[in-house]
Amino acid sequence: MGPFVQCHLSGSRPASSDFGPIAVLTEPLVEDELREEIARLMSLQAIDRELRELEQVFSSVAGRVEQLRLDAQKQQAELDRLIAEEQQSALTRRQLEKELAEGEARIRNKRMRLNQARNDKELQALAHEVDAQKETNQRLEADLLSLMEASEPRAARITEFTSVVERLLAELTAAEKEIAAQVEDLKISIAKQRLERDLMAGNLERSLLQRYEMIFSRRNGLAVAEARGGTCQGCRMRLPPQLYNQIQRHDSIHFCPNCQRILYHEGEGERHG
Ligand SMILES: [Zn+2]
Repeated sequence: MGPFVQCHLSGSRPASSDFGPIAVLTEPLVEDELREEIARLMSLQAIDRELRELEQVFSSVAGRVEQLRLDAQKQQAELDRLIAEEQQSALTRRQLEKELAEGEARIRNKRMRLNQARNDKELQALAHEVDAQKETNQRLEADLLSLMEASEPRAARITEFTSVVERLLAELTAAEKEIAAQVEDLKISIAKQRLERDLMAGNLERSLLQRYEMIFSRRNGLAVAEARGGTCQGCRMRLPPQLYNQIQRHDSIHFCPNCQRILYHEGEGERHG
């Protein structure tokens, strides 16, 4: 213990830092009160850390199902696209087949009229019409063939995607079923933990609580750190000797000048029963 114990226990020190002024420091606390306040902060931190972990588990569990759902939707969209493409192709094929059948009927009709032609001019005109229709029919046949050729691999892909989508949907249903209970448990645990947290937070001085919450979120879930061996255990920085002395005296709440964490000291033989 340093020589300034007595005067500092009854005094107060100005309070300000990067994290703003803090009202709690203007009211000096006696050692027991301070220890209790620190204990409440540490209980709150333990609850907050547990809560954070639960929320992380919850979002990873929910995220896995969401990913499956997205995968299934993506494959389903591709399947729908292929099916629509195939339907359009089938429609066009039927139209071409109809035109081709009509073209062949026309050729038969003109060939019959060839036999009844009365002169060369009429004969040549009809022969020319037959040739033109033949050309049209060949074009129609070629179009039809290429549509049929494109349809074959598409049909294979539709079969493939249908089974992929079926498998993904089955996986999704199974995963949803599997985690339904887990999700419910997590939701209940989180709700309980929040309730406990609010009760605990209600016992803390408001400005200290706000400051704690800010440090907790900025310092990755560690707002209260031990000052041990002259070092902040939160950021490992060596504390100024005078500050370390003050922390050891438990005269007020102190913060690490480097990481702003709330510091406490649990020295040998200083534990209160
Ligand atoms: Zn620190």
